Amino acid sequence: MKKTAKRFLAGVGIVLVLVILALGGYLVKMNMETRKMTPSATGEITAGVYAVRDSYVNLFLIKGADGYIAVDAGNSLKRVRQEMQILSIDPSKVTAVFLTHTDFDHVAALDLFPQATIYLSKAEEQMINGTTPRFVVIHNPKIPRYALLDDGQTIDVSGRSVRGIATPGHTPGAMSYVVDGAYLFVGDTMSLKNGKAGLFNEFFNMDSATQEASIRKLAALKNPKFVFTAHYGFTDDAARAFGDR
Ligand SMILES: [Zn+2]
Repeated sequence: MKKTAKRFLAGVGIVLVLVILALGGYLVKMNMETRKMTPSATGEITAGVYAVRDSYVNLFLIKGADGYIAVDAGNSLKRVRQEMQILSIDPSKVTAVFLTHTDFDHVAALDLFPQATIYLSKAEEQMINGTTPRFVVIHNPKIPRYALLDDGQTIDVSGRSVRGIATPGHTPGAMSYVVDGAYLFVGDTMSLKNGKAGLFNEFFNMDSATQEASIRKLAALKNPKFVFTAHYGFTDDAARAFGDR
């Protein structure tokens, strides 16, 4: 083999090893970060509001007059189906899904809800239409059909009112939702440790400084009765959670 060919192959080999090491390091770090998470067990949290646990993430179901509203759609379709069986809730009864953002662990079970209208924020569309990558060259999963929401927009569904609040940071279009003015769902806009709101795992955030401003925006909301996070459980003491802000 010629010297230049040998050098070329050696170069390709080194690049490959570096890519594998970087990818391996990323996966190890991802695993370490998800182990810090403390989602709620599957069950009814308060009258008509249910947590569904799918490994390290929760989605939530809210009982409406003629069906259920979901906030997010889990990490694994199979697991969400199993957990909903425990709750005796038929997935075909879910009529609306409000996505806090479009990361894979929040959208995996969307196909379980073919009857549902899927909502996400206008600012999040860039994450699923090929415009903005989530990580270097990796894009979030495509979503076949959806309706887009503005900051502050309210949707009335199944006798409940759902207001979207733009809370960018984790992703540019991250959105929190207030249901009936009382139940606040924040997705990955914050963590909750010892009842206190904090930044979400910065490793997974696209812009933590923007997220801090979004947490302050949530802190200014008038007395939600409950605050539900996607990975760190919930609290019924919003004053304590946001006290420092
Ligand atoms: Zn997440």
